[in-house]
Amino acid sequence: MQERAKNNPKITWSLNCTPVEVVAGEKGVTGLKVRNNETGQEEVLETDGIFVAIGHRPNTAFLEGQLETDDVGYIIVKPGTAETNIPGVFACGDVQDHKYRQAITAAGSGCMAALDCERYLEGQAVHDWSKTL
Ligand SMILES: Cc1cc2nc3c(=O)[nH]c(=O)nc-3n(C[C@H](O)[C@H](O)[C@H](O)COP(=O)(O)OP(=O)(O)OC[C@H]3O[C@@H](n4cnc5c(N)ncnc54)[C@H](O)[C@@H]3O)c2cc1C
Repeated sequence: MQERAKNNPKITWSLNCTPVEVVAGEKGVTGLKVRNNETGQEEVLETDGIFVAIGHRPNTAFLEGQLETDDVGYIIVKPGTAETNIPGVFACGDVQDHKYRQAITAAGSGCMAALDCERYLEGQAVHDWSKTL
């Protein structure tokens, strides 16, 4: 992705900078103030639009290795299902999708997980909660 972006003449780079303020005019965004992390110097990059990207590292650290993940942290599911390496635990959405990561694919895989979960529960022995309560 970086190579593609770097080869695009319409894209300029401001590396090692922290965004500190969205500069707005009467009709909307006019720029983004950034601070250089090394020099502390601030400058305003002129732009009439901002798109936030949050990176590609899935937020799975809380699993602490309990579920099988790939090197980056995406949960590994059995292909064509939402099944993880632990029976009865299912994964869906961006957290298990390193390729598409779109709202519609996340929603679709959520449906898969719900159906997989329902079938898993149907396959379990019925628990009589009246004896538990
Ligand atoms: C800037 C941007 C633009 C995008 N534009 C598009 C677009 O135009 N079209 C499109 O189809 N997709 C777009 N996407 C992708 C889309 O937003 C995702 O694919 C989709 O939201 C994934 O849904 P999800 O439910 O898997 O994960 P998320 O929407 O990320 O939901 C995960 C939820 O889990 C919560 N969570 C995280 N950790 C924990 C925890 N430990 N305990 C409890 N809760 C936790 C989070 O707070 C969050 O609410 C965009 C994404 C970004 C960042």
